[in-house]
Amino acid sequence: MLGILGGGQLGRMFTLAARTMGYRVMVLDPDAASPAGQMADVHVQADYTDLAALKKLGEVCAAVTTEFENVPAASLIELARHCRVSPGAEAVAIVQDRSHEKSWLAGNGFATAPFALVNSETDLESALAATSTPALLKVSRFGYDGKGQARVGSLDEARAAFQAFDHQPCVLEGFVKLEREVSVVLARDDAGQCALFPIAENRHENGILDVSIVPARVSDALAQQARDMACVVADKLGYVGVMAVEFFVADGRLMINEIAPRPHNSGHYTLDACVTDQFEQQVRALCGLPLGDTRLLSPVAMVNILGDRWHDGGPHWDTLLTHPNIKLHLYGKQAARPGRKMGHFNVLDADVETALQLAERMRDAL
Ligand code: AMP
Repeated sequence: MLGILGGGQLGRMFTLAARTMGYRVMVLDPDAASPAGQMADVHVQADYTDLAALKKLGEVCAAVTTEFENVPAASLIELARHCRVSPGAEAVAIVQDRSHEKSWLAGNGFATAPFALVNSETDLESALAATSTPALLKVSRFGYDGKGQARVGSLDEARAAFQAFDHQPCVLEGFVKLEREVSVVLARDDAGQCALFPIAENRHENGILDVSIVPARVSDALAQQARDMACVVADKLGYVGVMAVEFFVADGRLMINEIAPRPHNSGHYTLDACVTDQFEQQVRALCGLPLGDTRLLSPVAMVNILGDRWHDGGPHWDTLLTHPNIKLHLYGKQAARPGRKMGHFNVLDADVETALQLAERMRDAL
């Protein structure tokens, strides 16, 4: 039995991969209708800090992983008293807090967007001077998909945004003129060996990933540099498991935007385009099995399907399902809301430009 903290779509795809490999799965998630809970052998419906639930998971499961970064580090430490846990609490504690993450990255010599930590209103003036305007104020904890972020152009706007975030600790980031965004998903095993998936080029809409294309349209040198940086991040974190590193490309240079201690939305293309997908890799790393081959079998474009498309009785799936190059994945979520990730589809084609064009046509036809 393998365990996972969190029952969203990432947990669901982990559960499916684990069951395909013959494991049973226990999901911990407070939501009765969680996408992963529906697929699991056992769904423990409890909070992530519920000690009795954590004990049950730890005692029954041979190993436990997580599908989201906001799991309390204390819960991972508690679980680790009973069973194997990957990734470890220290790595998750760093990357789940933007202030820690940014300070850790800068302290380890990785390039990032210019940033300053904001813990009180009095920090705002010097922070703006350090980053220049426009800038983005981002809450340190629990922000995702562009939520908990505000673009600010002046001290007054920064104050208003900080107040709107209830004076929570924040990071102020200089707004970078992006050439593109790319990400690397990798797995690192107990022996410190890294297996990297091909680099994805990512396009966001309103702070939410819209499309990923692979191979990314960057030079070989830049791609190699991104791979090297991602491996060094994993090494320095002493990471075991699957993780993602998101990069900005500006003026031909790479900056690290974020680290995710789990499989990543920009790695969903691996489900149909790679020998091993990122969720099977998560199972392998968790169980201490040899890591799988990450080879790309076809150029691919991945498109997220958000709840916004559920007007007029829902998307028109037929066009998509009848196309021979397309694979659809839906997450079994009961309610569609704007901005909510309901599923994605992968378009395989002879080259990435053709895949992207077809993907955009198909998305519009939905
Ligand atoms: P995040 O949640 O921090 O990854 O932000 C979501 C998206 O907003 C990123 O993938 C970028 O497209 C955009 N973004 C975030 N921070 C910056 C920045 N400092 N400069 C320019 N764009 C940004």
